[in-house]
Amino acid sequence: MIGIKDADPEYLATSYDIDCKYCHSPRKLNFYYYYSYSYFGFLKVFPLGKSFYSQCQSCKHFLQEAAFDDQYRAELNNYRDRAKLPWTLYIGPVLIGYWLISSLISSLF
Ligand SMILES: [Zn+2]
Repeated sequence: MIGIKDADPEYLATSYDIDCKYCHSPRKLNFYYYYSYSYFGFLKVFPLGKSFYSQCQSCKHFLQEAAFDDQYRAELNNYRDRAKLPWTLYIGPVLIGYWLISSLISSLF
């Protein structure tokens, strides 16, 4: 009913500028992202952060963002803004904000 999950990874972009660090195959590096969220019933109600990784199309080597070097990170920064979260993830923060503001107002009067 209530818990935390990772969403399925979504394709972000393919890089044509950098070589794979492992097989050195040029021009074939895909970037993906996924997000973690808390859920309530069927609703995703609170965002808990985005994660990024890359995968080489040749050797299928998988690399989490934490292991990126400067070149990979700079390339990812070109695409980072494309990683969108579903709007339902903001229901939780909006409800909490509404609750905080309304309890603040009612404590003042
Ligand atoms: Zn590779």
